[in-house]
Amino acid sequence: MVSTESLFSSDRAKEIIRKKKVILFDCDGVLWRSGVGLPSAAEFVNSLSPTKKVFFVTNNSGGTPAHLTSKLARIGITATEDQVISAPLVTAKVLSARGVKKVFLLANTNMVSYLKSSGIEAIEADFSMNPNDIDGDSFTDPAVQAVVAGATQDLNYSSLAQALQYLLKPEVAFIATNRDPTFPGAHSMLPGANTVVSALIGCSGRQPEVMGKPEPFVYEALEEMYGIDRKDCVIVGDRLSTDIELAVRGGSTSILVLTGVTPAESWHEMAESMGVIPDAVVGGVADIVGWDVV
Ligand code: PLP
Ligand code: CA
Repeated sequence: MVSTESLFSSDRAKEIIRKKKVILFDCDGVLWRSGVGLPSAAEFVNSLSPTKKVFFVTNNSGGTPAHLTSKLARIGITATEDQVISAPLVTAKVLSARGVKKVFLLANTNMVSYLKSSGIEAIEADFSMNPNDIDGDSFTDPAVQAVVAGATQDLNYSSLAQALQYLLKPEVAFIATNRDPTFPGAHSMLPGANTVVSALIGCSGRQPEVMGKPEPFVYEALEEMYGIDRKDCVIVGDRLSTDIELAVRGGSTSILVLTGVTPAESWHEMAESMGVIPDAVVGGVADIVGWDVV
């Protein structure tokens, strides 16, 4: 068995990239940090086409595919919207396939348009409502089939109380876009989707079904939309509990980069204690540029 520390090898990562047909890039912490391109990210991604299929697989629910492709363009990466597989997109796809028509949304308001384009109406919280005026029976809309929770900067006690009224009904599904605990802000880590999701778990006593990484819906979307087999994929990501776990569970290959949320000094201890072991580890994508000369 290979020791975990020996996985830190750019040759190992280059060999993986050389062999695999489909490269799934996590975005934040791999290609950019708070919108600023990481060294060689554009050079590396652009060098992969046309020989590889490239997708951008993100748990970020803060923008539409169009926002993401323009963010990629700003750092020099040419991409089309159909290369974006995001947690909101997967959430809308899965719920629509299940025949869901109406949800209560406690997540980024951008998700309203994702849901709408999949034929799902979203109602959002009224942040000004006095929690003492919320009467579960008259407040709840009987047409709502799910509560969708995710990252949002708009959160107050009343909005949690409103979501709870739905979660008290066992027939209403509890859906989380993702459970990232944090994401990197401009100067420090900021609270991610799990902040909202955990608050709702705390009051409802229910567990959500998660749509984003590390759950397999991302692979299902890739297979259904583009006929891609997860075994042909390598995911390049910075978070063990989402990106690398997705690969481990799905039987694809993974490369951990240390330009994001996983600390360079303790990645191997973290990976071992979580039992989530990447196939290779590099300092950043700058260390894998030139994969084709291996
Ligand atoms: N969640 C939120 C709210 C974010 O803003 C981000 C990144 O900016 C993420 C999650 C993580 O995104 P990714 O999966 O690309 O690392
Ligand atoms: Ca990331």
